[in-house]
Amino acid sequence: MDLLHDLKGAEVAKAICASLQDKISQLKETGIVPTLAIVRVGNREDDIAYEQGAIKRFNNNGARVLQVALQESCTQEELEKVVMNINKTKEIHGMLLMRPLPKHLNENRIKGMLDLRKDVDCMTYLGQAGLFMGEKAVFTPCTAQAVIEIIDHYGIDVTGKKVTVIGRSQVVGKPLAVMLINKNATVTVCHTKTVNLPEECRNADIIIAAAGRAKMVDDTFVKPGQIIIDVGINMVDGKLCGDVDYDKVSPIVTAITPVPGGVGAVTTSVLLKHTVISAAR
Ligand code: NAP
Repeated sequence: MDLLHDLKGAEVAKAICASLQDKISQLKETGIVPTLAIVRVGNREDDIAYEQGAIKRFNNNGARVLQVALQESCTQEELEKVVMNINKTKEIHGMLLMRPLPKHLNENRIKGMLDLRKDVDCMTYLGQAGLFMGEKAVFTPCTAQAVIEIIDHYGIDVTGKKVTVIGRSQVVGKPLAVMLINKNATVTVCHTKTVNLPEECRNADIIIAAAGRAKMVDDTFVKPGQIIIDVGINMVDGKLCGDVDYDKVSPIVTAITPVPGGVGAVTTSVLLKHTVISAAR
């Protein structure tokens, strides 16, 4: 364990993509190219950056992304028509909807509409129910799964370990907590009403920060021997940084994911993995 330090995402992403090559080639022989539809409403910069990252990842690995860009002002009907078409189209194996949607659109209706088999980011009610039940056939949310892939790749055994997750969002914190419980970790979930967050963090063997607060986890939150996984993506003075103050925390702990170059680097390869599995099914 002491040998670990920077848990680099690129290494994990490379291993995931390499593990998919045989399957992608077999599919190609039967005329199938794993295809993901990315549905974006409006032109948010972070959505476009994520989309570009996914396109590059898919193209470099023999898969493809179909971009569906709708106007910020699009109607619920237009969006639903897109989803219905994706459900119907045999050549599309997965859908990623960029969220949050503009306020006038009803995301919950989409959650009830997308075909579970194409729900590669676990946005549907059925997908989330399956995740909660520990149903192996459903796809897990890509960001939460990226954290699990990092843990597994670096041989970190979470069984019986105390894991503190900062954040309880539907997309990251909550599913991650369930996935960690399923891996036999003892999980504490913290949020804005948590009374003594630094103490909850110091008590942990592993800290996973997913709060969206730049550098909030500093040297007062950590102790030697801990493993820190930073999911946060924040822009400060035009520079990308995580929820963890890397410079202060890194010298103290056993291992830490950098930002950029940590969890974010793994997410699109998880998306590819899920799309390939869906295509193979
Ligand atoms: P979110 O929906 O805003 O949820 C943030 C969560 O953190 C909430 O549960 C909130 O608590 C909690 N929180 C916020 N400030 C806190 C504080 N000071 N102390 C304790 N808890 C606090 O965000 P999200 O969508 O889960 O995303 C979290 C972070 O991950 C963001 O930085 C986002 O950019 C990043 N992200 C990264 C990837 C990736 O691929 N690496 C993908 C998705 C998201 P309450 O529930 O009490 O409000």
